[in-house]
Amino acid sequence: MNYGTEPLPGLPKAVTIWEVGPRDGLQNESALVPVSVKVEFVERLADAGHTVVETTSMVRPEWVPQLADAEQVLCRLDRRPGVRYPVLVPNERGLRRALDLGVTDIAVFASVTESFAKANLNRTVAESLEMFAPVIASAREADLGVRGYLSMCWGDPWEGAVPAERVVEVATRLMSLGCTELSLGDTIGVATPGRVVALLRALTAAGVPIEAVAVHFHDTYGQGLANTLAALQHGVTTVDTSAGGLGGCPFAGSATGNLATEDLLWHLEGLGIHTGVNLTKLVETSTWLATHLGRESPSSVVRALQNS
Ligand code: MG
Repeated sequence: MNYGTEPLPGLPKAVTIWEVGPRDGLQNESALVPVSVKVEFVERLADAGHTVVETTSMVRPEWVPQLADAEQVLCRLDRRPGVRYPVLVPNERGLRRALDLGVTDIAVFASVTESFAKANLNRTVAESLEMFAPVIASAREADLGVRGYLSMCWGDPWEGAVPAERVVEVATRLMSLGCTELSLGDTIGVATPGRVVALLRALTAAGVPIEAVAVHFHDTYGQGLANTLAALQHGVTTVDTSAGGLGGCPFAGSATGNLATEDLLWHLEGLGIHTGVNLTKLVETSTWLATHLGRESPSSVVRALQNS
């Protein structure tokens, strides 16, 4: 059923969806998924029309057992021309593993707050950026795309509201180290549209090109789409989402973490914004994956469409 399309002024004609389900989503699910299911998941996402599917992470298996099979997934995956399969890389060793497997795009995961840098990386923010510097430099020498994730951009469970200046500091540093793109993460889902716009303005004022900025919203407090719309109105054209809303929120005891790709797609299709991703195929994929996870998708759109 088609319920109609009506554009709004000031929005982009097309949006790139950076699908994070296989990496950020599965990493934060308690169920361990077999390699064959992961490979099929990534291939189905590409089938559905995704052009960027963040596939896995080269972190040490004992840190993230959910993604301990990164090599096997990448070896078995049928990588298609025109689709990018970025991989999260924590250090130089991870980068070498990624390069050996023919990866063309990597991401590094930085925190803008000291509390989360300590909790997640066991380093200060400055130490973590020092650790990433040679990784980013080597990756750029090898002509890879390098995305810098910034987590806790609007709020942090230990520190509360995060000032935009903190984010600008880390963002400009990551750009000067050679990142080709930044992803602003609302890791605990507490941002609201005015604060989203304030941060985007602060970043552009500091010389960060808006074309290099992606947004990564979590729907923990139900703000994901409102925040996305605000970001699109301010020139952002890349949005991170997770198929079926995979990946809960480890800091809120909530089933809802990553904004669901289906929820974003419904929103963008209603606004007449092109993504190239087929909503029906995606809902089928998320419904299929849910049977392997043993939990229903938290996405409103998946729930509305899966039995229709
Ligand atoms: Mg996320």
